[in-house]
Amino acid sequence: MGGVTSDNPPGTADPSALRPLLPSPLAEVTDERFARRGLRLLLKRDDLIHPDLPGNKWRKLEPNLREAAASGKGTLLTFGGAYSNHLRATAAAGRLLGFKTIGIVRGDELADRPLNPSLAQCAADGMQLSFVTRSLYRRKAEPEVLAQLTDDDCFIVPEGGSNAAAARGCAELGRELRGMADVVGVACGTGGTLAGLAAGLAEGQRAIGFPVLKGGFLEAEVQQLQEAAFGGRRGSWTLDDRFHFGGYAKRTPELDAFAEDFAARHGLPVERLYVAKMLYGLTTLAEEGAFAPGTTVVAVITGGAGAGWAGT
Ligand SMILES: *Cc1c(COP(=O)(O)O)cnc(C)c1O
Repeated sequence: MGGVTSDNPPGTADPSALRPLLPSPLAEVTDERFARRGLRLLLKRDDLIHPDLPGNKWRKLEPNLREAAASGKGTLLTFGGAYSNHLRATAAAGRLLGFKTIGIVRGDELADRPLNPSLAQCAADGMQLSFVTRSLYRRKAEPEVLAQLTDDDCFIVPEGGSNAAAARGCAELGRELRGMADVVGVACGTGGTLAGLAAGLAEGQRAIGFPVLKGGFLEAEVQQLQEAAFGGRRGSWTLDDRFHFGGYAKRTPELDAFAEDFAARHGLPVERLYVAKMLYGLTTLAEEGAFAPGTTVVAVITGGAGAGWAGT
């Protein structure tokens, strides 16, 4: 195990030493777009779980960190794009828990440029960054490619942190919402959070995923993650593909205006890569009359717009 930094109780790689705020707070807000249709809106504040590993990044990494510690491997190796929140969280976890970290970053052209704020934070947290071509990055799951990028001391966490352990970690989010919601909205990147959330909800509750990437490939991915984590499809979930706004990190003036308005109404700065699109989707569904009067809608705030996090 690598050196443990001084802000961490020495000798432990147990994530619970980081004192996550769990269960995360659930707060009702008054929003006339919901209220006038007889709907309640509650915000599940997963963004408050931990300042350095917020939201679903905590829920997905925590079980992986435990497995990494149990494996005796001293290095976490993972993958991401230039603005990946998952890379950021992995770098922070390494610093806090005494793992070395390696980030394989998509795009070899980035090697010659100054680091963007997100990657600069990864580097400041001690992550070793390795920039690879897009074609190599696409083949990163192939054994020969992986062998080139890693060695035996590396515990590999997949892109976006979504594997079976991560989905099981996110099932706790669903369990925390039992009895609290009829419909739960969540933004989707890789779909790991939705896979776990839906599995953890009770009978009669349902989850709606809002993909932020264009492509419509997520149905199969979520299904596969549920099979790997739980042995089959679990819970009641659907995807609404209408709210990606052109794709990952793409935005429009309309989306920005919506996010600013939501922030002003509820005093909550809205994370733009994911959370804004999910809130826009839920609000549209409410206005379309998709939810029966009396429905309690929970929006999962999977990440914050806090200092340094991409999307502010
Ligand atoms: C990473 C991330 C997501 C996407 O989670 P998946 O499990 O990959 O679908 C959603 N919201 C925020 C704020 C994130 O950082």
